[in-house]
Amino acid sequence: MILISEVGPRDGLQSISNIMPLEAKKAWIAAEAAAGVTEIEVGSFVPAKLLPQLADTAEVVAFARTIPGLTVAVLVPNFKGAEAAIAAGAHKITIPLSTSETHSLKNVRRTHAQMIEESRLIAELIKAQPIDRRPKFEGGLSTAFGCTLEGVVPPERVVALAEALMKAGCDEVGLSDTTGYANPTQVKDLVKRVRAAVGEDALSGLHLHNTRGLGLANVMAGLEVGITTFDSSLGGLGGCPFAPGASGNIVTEDLVFMLEAMGLPTGIDLPRLLDVRRILKAALPNDALYGFTPDAGLPLGFQPASSMTGVRQ
Ligand code: ZN
Repeated sequence: MILISEVGPRDGLQSISNIMPLEAKKAWIAAEAAAGVTEIEVGSFVPAKLLPQLADTAEVVAFARTIPGLTVAVLVPNFKGAEAAIAAGAHKITIPLSTSETHSLKNVRRTHAQMIEESRLIAELIKAQPIDRRPKFEGGLSTAFGCTLEGVVPPERVVALAEALMKAGCDEVGLSDTTGYANPTQVKDLVKRVRAAVGEDALSGLHLHNTRGLGLANVMAGLEVGITTFDSSLGGLGGCPFAPGASGNIVTEDLVFMLEAMGLPTGIDLPRLLDVRRILKAALPNDALYGFTPDAGLPLGFQPASSMTGVRQ
């Protein structure tokens, strides 16, 4: 079973200037969960003045928690964000650590050392919670495949930061191609290097963008080296301002189609998932949605893996 972690309500919405109303967010999350998506990153605990698009994250978390079986994930840039996330009851929190220090300073105004210390404090905070209120804590290694400010990010540095995050108390690390620089060979190489350092179980997920059209090729590379969780965004929401026509995150619909067609069950009902786009179109009529499968439709005689294995449907 491959886990699809929908990140559109966070990564997609933070990349567009229009603000999606709270009710539409709730409808989106509920509809995707009903289609079989079991993990959704619903927002980010950042100051509202920085990201007004995500100012209602606490309310979104409260709503998403009422959906049975759904893992409610959020992004937190620092300790304060983690406090808010735990108070709201998020099941999973991810702290992004940009492997490019220039990007880290620009993005969260913190050095690597400061971010590792922040992660250690968050891990302590989590341990101090009653056992049933402890969220899973992930260190997200962003710009891991290259940075728009620094260019090449040496893999040795990514490995060292992955080790530092695990030592600080993260439950796992993830690799993020924030900039859409990754290629399949690089994906395999970096996954292997990081796993060799922190252990196979400590790296299960990839966060990929489709900026240069290599998103699904990079998924294939990840599958080949045992990756089991992929972040994606419905309709590839957000796009890329520097590459017209390119989606933002990899498109959930196309990702699910590829996996199901390949015989890899996701537990997601594809026709129902495609239908969720209507909520996005209605709430954000001026923002582009991407994806080939939604436009082309499902192939005649298409047999999703999930229906054949009885995983769902
Ligand atoms: Zn991203």
